[in-house]
Amino acid sequence: MSEFLPLDMLAFAPHPDDAELYCGGTLLLLKRAGRRTGIIDLTRGELSTRGNPDTRARETAEATRILQLDYRGNLSLPDGDIANTWENRITVAREIRRLRPRAVFLPYFRDRHPDHEHTSVLVREALFAAGLRKIETTDEDGLPQEAYRPPRAYYYMLTYEFEPGFTVDISAVQEEKLAAIRAYASQFNVRTSDAEPETYISRPEFLESLNGRSRRLGFYVGGEYGEGFIPLQMMRMEPEDMLGNGKMAK
Ligand SMILES: [Zn+2]
Repeated sequence: MSEFLPLDMLAFAPHPDDAELYCGGTLLLLKRAGRRTGIIDLTRGELSTRGNPDTRARETAEATRILQLDYRGNLSLPDGDIANTWENRITVAREIRRLRPRAVFLPYFRDRHPDHEHTSVLVREALFAAGLRKIETTDEDGLPQEAYRPPRAYYYMLTYEFEPGFTVDISAVQEEKLAAIRAYASQFNVRTSDAEPETYISRPEFLESLNGRSRRLGFYVGGEYGEGFIPLQMMRMEPEDMLGNGKMAK
């Protein structure tokens, strides 16, 4: 018997901090609703211009505490070289079969950072492989794992934007989400007076831009802040669900 209970939602992130930035609000809302949440980072972010793996690990632990995650893992794949190989697909599929999440977040497949794109394809293919019975894997005790494919998966939006299939109103947890992002103190909101060089994400304008997008998406759905997603699978809609909650649109 695995020491982990099945998760409700599991987010895959190329680097520690990506899940906090791009789906952290929704993870916080699920936690508030009593759901079991987790994040698996594929790398330790060792190629980051600022900080080092030790500072990143401490910052990740603090962000994990703020998000109240039930599980946080790291696959230790090489940063800058996340390859969609058979071996890596099996590694990801083993985690999916072990944690048996009801739903998964994965990065969108078109982005500024190649690692983000590669993670998208790798996780998407691993989700499929995890459901194939003839792909055999074993758990940490060497026992065979059951095939399992999460019924739901959703792409989250990174640097490049897409037209979301739906938006989650995260206004209620916006401050906590920002606290989880600020836990990565070596990465964000640092001015150049610092000893390390400025990066694309270290300037305050990066977080301002992210908040601007979140503000806009939230506004569209009648809230203050939002996170947008695209479902990986065709979403079945019951005719009754099409009627909504009867509240007038803002
Ligand atoms: Zn990243």
